[in-house]
Amino acid sequence: MSDNDIKKIILPYSIGVRELAEKMDASPIQVIKVLMANGVMASINQNVDFDTAAVVASELGFEPELLQIEEETPEEKGEIPLWRRVIADEKEEDLQARPPVVTMLGHVDHGKTSLLDAIRKTNVAGGEEGGITQHIGAYQIEHNGRKITFLDTPGHAAFTSMRARGAQGADIVVLVVAADDGVMPQTREAANHAKAARVPIVVALNKMDLPSANPEMAKKQLAEIDLVPDEWDGDTIIVPVSATKMQGLDDLMEAILLVADNKEIKANPKGEVFGTVVEAELDKFRGTMATLLLQNGTIEVGDTILAGKAHGRIKAMFDFRGKPIKKAGPSTPIAVMGLNDVPRAGDIFRVVESEKEARAIVEDIEANEEQQSFAPRATLEDLFERLQAGEEQELRLIVKADVQGSLEPIVNSLKELGEKQSEVSMNVLHQETGNITESDVMLAAASDAIVIGFAVDADNAAKRLAETEGVSVRLYTIIYRLIEDVEKALKGMLEPELVERTVGSAKVLAIFAVSRFKVAAGCRVIDGEIRRNGKIRVIRNKNVVFEGEIGSLKRGKDDVREVREGFECGIALKQFHEFEEGDLLECFVIEEQSR
Ligand code: GDP
Repeated sequence: MSDNDIKKIILPYSIGVRELAEKMDASPIQVIKVLMANGVMASINQNVDFDTAAVVASELGFEPELLQIEEETPEEKGEIPLWRRVIADEKEEDLQARPPVVTMLGHVDHGKTSLLDAIRKTNVAGGEEGGITQHIGAYQIEHNGRKITFLDTPGHAAFTSMRARGAQGADIVVLVVAADDGVMPQTREAANHAKAARVPIVVALNKMDLPSANPEMAKKQLAEIDLVPDEWDGDTIIVPVSATKMQGLDDLMEAILLVADNKEIKANPKGEVFGTVVEAELDKFRGTMATLLLQNGTIEVGDTILAGKAHGRIKAMFDFRGKPIKKAGPSTPIAVMGLNDVPRAGDIFRVVESEKEARAIVEDIEANEEQQSFAPRATLEDLFERLQAGEEQELRLIVKADVQGSLEPIVNSLKELGEKQSEVSMNVLHQETGNITESDVMLAAASDAIVIGFAVDADNAAKRLAETEGVSVRLYTIIYRLIEDVEKALKGMLEPELVERTVGSAKVLAIFAVSRFKVAAGCRVIDGEIRRNGKIRVIRNKNVVFEGEIGSLKRGKDDVREVREGFECGIALKQFHEFEEGDLLECFVIEEQSR
């Protein structure tokens, strides 16, 4: 055979047997035979690693080459968080390098807290006696004269909600993996989160001091989830460390800075001032204390800020050590006093002209919320519309199934469906056996994905979260139904199966004028609950006199999402003002019928 006869074939780190066969224009049976001849038993839907695929390819006359993964820029993906977009709009000459912001993720007990503590102890002190006294949820260290900001809440709850609101704050994720335990479910989940948010990952292979540490096993498992070590020609830096022995920490800092250098982490210190709320609490003595991560501009004591719906003039500002400061620049974690309310972790904050402007913006936000108190995320039903409107080019799925034997064919069929459908790509973010859990729903909320369950149920916490976050969870017991539904959704043919469910009722006790034309009913919930996002049926003498949407639901002066049995509340409807004492208000929701 001359050189010209050898055809090059590019293969990923892991490939399905069927796909491998297609790439070579061979039949899957041919591939399976070659695999068997080499002692590998694999079915058509199974994946084989690059080395194995390469052997098959060579035997069938190909010259295999490992696929070099080029990182897609967030711009290409159209998934840029707001703060990155604002920075992208700044003029290039105004941009200056800023410290990278790092968050630690990983499986429970793999050592996130220990590692954060070890890094803080070795690098932070900087002449300060005793280092940090106060914990504010973020800190900054210096390594070889360069700063790195760490979000200091392991498994940072804000990471998810930040991402969900398009304001995810981290530039780099350190994925902590215990070398004795390897890749575990939360490792996989964390990696998925980081990938969904397009944040690069550095792996800290922790607990290397343990005799049971097995770094080779861990690396192999990491490669299986597409985190291929750089020593194996991949692009993931894996740093062996020991938090307890304080070993490898310098290397970890080097790796972080290396990744940071490739990412052009910049901001405009003179630009628009904004950032993300890391955490906030009500302090008995000082009022609201909020830890903020400044992402652009320079903030000063006396500035008026708006964080979510909380606002106020900054009365005092502290660095992460609790030292009062007057001013801070990009990537600096700060604690501020002076907000009128407690913002949520993940809220965006910005500096505004005045309290008056802040109040006006909050009013706008609230008016908007009135209109769409419950903005549904991706659902299969509205997918087609979003596709047509050009809002979506990708269908993101989280697939859970009872056993591996059903999971694989489902995922493979879904992927095939995606390949047939050229306008839409199918992205299975996470696949696993077991019931649908809260963290599945969290990932779906964070990445606007749909959760699909086959022969599994969703646990109660997951159901609750799905409801509050508006995540679509669909359960199936027949594979072809599942595939058919997704296919129909892609083609815009899916008919939702909707059913009405009564969630509670309230009795009208009194009627109030809210404005010249609007009235609200003072009610007591007598059964179940009244939900802000539900609909109301007004029943008088057993006759339905009106049916429609809620305009506002209040407990005292506060807008609330729901009011439970036994409590009093104020209900105003959008298009009905003729309440009478004694009316019965029945609250119902429209739901997809589970099959
Ligand atoms: P987290 O749940 O990921 O925050 O994990 P922790 O930091 O709480 O650590 C879990 C356990 O592992 C604790 O008992 C730590 O002492 C231990 N641990 C953490 N890092 C190391 C390490 O480098 N070596 C050893 N031997 N144990 C460690």
